[in-house]
Amino acid sequence: MRERSDGSLASLRRLNRRRVINALREHGMISRADIARRTGLSRSTVSSLVSELQSDGLVVEREEPGAAHGDERSGDGPSTRGRSGRPPILLSFDATAGAALGIDFGHSHVRVAVSDLSSNILAERAAPLDTDHAARQGLDVALELIDGALADAGVERSRVIGAGLGLPGPVDGAVGRIGSSAILPGWVGVAAGEEMRRRLDVPVSVDNDANLGALAELTHGAGRGATDLVYLKISSGIGAGLILGGRLYRGAGGVAGELGHVLVDPEGPVCRCGNRGCLETAASTGALLDMLRRSHGELTVAEMLRLARDGDLGCRRVIADAGRVVGSAAAGVFNLLNPQLLVVGGDLAEAGDLLLDGVRGSLRLAALPAAADAADVVPGVLGERAQVLGALALAVGEAGAALEFPESIIHPVPGGGVP
Ligand SMILES: [Zn+2]
Repeated sequence: MRERSDGSLASLRRLNRRRVINALREHGMISRADIARRTGLSRSTVSSLVSELQSDGLVVEREEPGAAHGDERSGDGPSTRGRSGRPPILLSFDATAGAALGIDFGHSHVRVAVSDLSSNILAERAAPLDTDHAARQGLDVALELIDGALADAGVERSRVIGAGLGLPGPVDGAVGRIGSSAILPGWVGVAAGEEMRRRLDVPVSVDNDANLGALAELTHGAGRGATDLVYLKISSGIGAGLILGGRLYRGAGGVAGELGHVLVDPEGPVCRCGNRGCLETAASTGALLDMLRRSHGELTVAEMLRLARDGDLGCRRVIADAGRVVGSAAAGVFNLLNPQLLVVGGDLAEAGDLLLDGVRGSLRLAALPAAADAADVVPGVLGERAQVLGALALAVGEAGAALEFPESIIHPVPGGGVP
């Protein structure tokens, strides 16, 4: 980041440029008039900033889909001629301005996606991974998928200006190293972000799966338009992603939102973190399958969910109970943060209201009524794509920050700016 001492006019112009870029990023195709309306900037300021972005080769004018009669448009023409019958000229990022990559490593999969800088998804690919895979092996598979997805999207590797990387566990943001984790044992201590940065030769931002789920549901899913939301991922681990005041909150060391390790039963089983009776030992998918082993033998998560849908009492019971205990743990979060929305994602969210009714019931009992009433509890809509789309949102956000300074597109500042 630059110093603020380079003059208030220059920094104001930079801030305004950022606002125009964000409007383009959020809306894909937008007219100058709409940019002015959405940013509160004057029409002349918007026109001047757009001209600058055009001469940087970042922004192009487009025909409104289905509107044109092929009439010539001048580069600096007025943006809205609705009443005279002429459609407004729309602007968007030039497809050649750059592309972003999202990469999501899970317990047993890797998923990648490519988008342009307006967050339009161009291609996605996924592959299974051995649960005990070594980090190097996982990175190799990811690189192959990335090459395939770039080919699908028709995007040259040289046009990628940044990547986001998701890992299931607390992440040390500076180098993208995963902390203690029984979920990806082959990755502990590996500086995955640095390794990926070296292999792709672009800036790579790393975050954990719950934070990326929160970002994805905020950008593309159930949380669009929200400013204060909690995303809960309930899978083989449990974590929360916190959006506060429209921004992702990571805490001092990236540990914020580790709801899975909140105590729910002092007499409970020992957790992988070393404490006992954590939420994960009571409500993660692994804990539920353990509870069903005596009655049902070995089940997969998909089998448990299918049996529950078909009315199996034992499967329905453990999922409903999981919802209740998650709701009790989330009540503390509600009282502390007063969110407007709780989005529940992860494998167990596929159980729908069987899970969510338990969450809602416990929140009504255990949270302050004002906090419980303020928030809707809804399922995530992005399913297993949430993390990779969040990784893309992270990458596009960082790329947007890099576009603030035209020269930094060539040498972007790693870790600068957060969406
Ligand atoms: Zn724990």
